[in-house]
Amino acid sequence: MDDTKCPKCGSALGEVVTTKTGKKLQRCSTGSWNTETRQTEGCDYVKWLPFEPETLDEKCPKCGEPLVVTMTRFNKKMKKCSTSKWDPKTKTASGCNFFEWMKAPVEELDEECPQCGAKLIKTQTATGKNMKKCSTGGWDRETRSATGCSYVEWLK
Ligand SMILES: [Zn+2]
Ligand SMILES: [Zn+2]
Ligand SMILES: [Zn+2]
Repeated sequence: MDDTKCPKCGSALGEVVTTKTGKKLQRCSTGSWNTETRQTEGCDYVKWLPFEPETLDEKCPKCGEPLVVTMTRFNKKMKKCSTSKWDPKTKTASGCNFFEWMKAPVEELDEECPQCGAKLIKTQTATGKNMKKCSTGGWDRETRSATGCSYVEWLK
């Protein structure tokens, strides 16, 4: 198959564009997105491109190799070791297994926790939900349990 041609109509594919969520796509050059009608005009073929891992200027704490940013099937971004590989045939991972979810920005609020009086912070879960939580609350990765104050308020 010719990668640069639209499989629907045979026209050339357009330029690679990046969506707000960081995904890349190519539309058929005879199709275009009409922002007023919110519909595709012309050929509606869209080719989604795989997310290209981005190499970071950070080293893996386990093995010292560079870390890369990658995106999961669920649009969650994570940092992982560049030496880690996934073999889809044997369904096994090889190389270094270090990974870390990308942290959402945290905003300090001028509000007090109704449970303990400490400051509240506004943050986002890995799935993009906004929440306010107590700044003393945390997560212990080793014991896999919540630490500190458990106050959480979900925001719309
Ligand atoms: Zn087309
Ligand atoms: Zn590593
Ligand atoms: Zn609290």
